[in-house]
Amino acid sequence: MMQVLSTNSGATAKLLSPGKLIVLTGPSGVGKGTLMRLLLSRHPELNYSISATTRLPRPGEVDGKDYFFIDRTKFQRLIEEGEFLEWAEFASNLYGTPRKPVIDLLESGSSVLLEIELEGARQIRAKFPDILSIFILPPTFNELEKRIRGRKKDSEAAISRRLKRAKEEIDSACEFHIQVVNDDLETAVCDIEMAISDGGLF
Ligand code: 5GP
Repeated sequence: MMQVLSTNSGATAKLLSPGKLIVLTGPSGVGKGTLMRLLLSRHPELNYSISATTRLPRPGEVDGKDYFFIDRTKFQRLIEEGEFLEWAEFASNLYGTPRKPVIDLLESGSSVLLEIELEGARQIRAKFPDILSIFILPPTFNELEKRIRGRKKDSEAAISRRLKRAKEEIDSACEFHIQVVNDDLETAVCDIEMAISDGGLF
């Protein structure tokens, strides 16, 4: 059953029916994190899954809030113990979605938003056929490169790996239910809200 609520933007959006999984994917630097934070602030019924990663924290990132920062040995052990719903290697680091919190939320009827890269999204789609999958595109590839370089948080080698991977990910955008161009942030959030409420998937 759908309910209707008024969002902070003044727009009207339907709440999701409970217990649904939404996957947000797109190349590094496209602004997924910002979009996700905006969505979560407007829709308290959505829950965010905190991922684990072997990447070192960037300045300002907090363990247990942005990610669970763990080493490779621990990550490998968690893989063997089946603790990840999905996991993937991205730009020489491992990233994974802890299984239990997501399953518990879904089983209790809560909806969960995953912000993950392409391989992980494919694994989730294989396990949960009725997810809503959204791919975020940059306005242009040059703009994406400018954004990745502009955040000055990664080494040149890491930037090159991310740009190479970004090309591959963008080529797969059509695998997703919805493609949203993140040119203007407010427009992109509204597009995602519309996809969630009007997609007919919930
Ligand atoms: P970053 O290092 O910039 O925080 O993230 C790099 C990429 O890893 C991003 O595309 C992000 O969406 C993705 N990512 C973050 N958490 C996970 C996760 O749990 N699983 C997978 N497969 N990708 C993730």
